[in-house]
Amino acid sequence: MFNLTHPKLVTLAEAEGYAEVVDFLEDYAQGSIVPAICMAPDCDHTADLEPDQRAGFCEACGRPTMKSGLVIAGMN
Ligand SMILES: [Zn+2]
Repeated sequence: MFNLTHPKLVTLAEAEGYAEVVDFLEDYAQGSIVPAICMAPDCDHTADLEPDQRAGFCEACGRPTMKSGLVIAGMN
């Protein structure tokens, strides 16, 4: 089951200019580089990372908390 309502996923989609999470996922489902967001509660840093990234380094807060949008959604 995909999770399209995770607050970080909604934030990430909006940061990329999408009003709907599903549109964001459709555009990036086959991507080799996809938008990722920092999962730390106090940080919403975004970057383009690998689709299966689960613990990417966040350049804003210095933690290994970057997750790709596809991972957050449960698609990867
Ligand atoms: Zn961060």
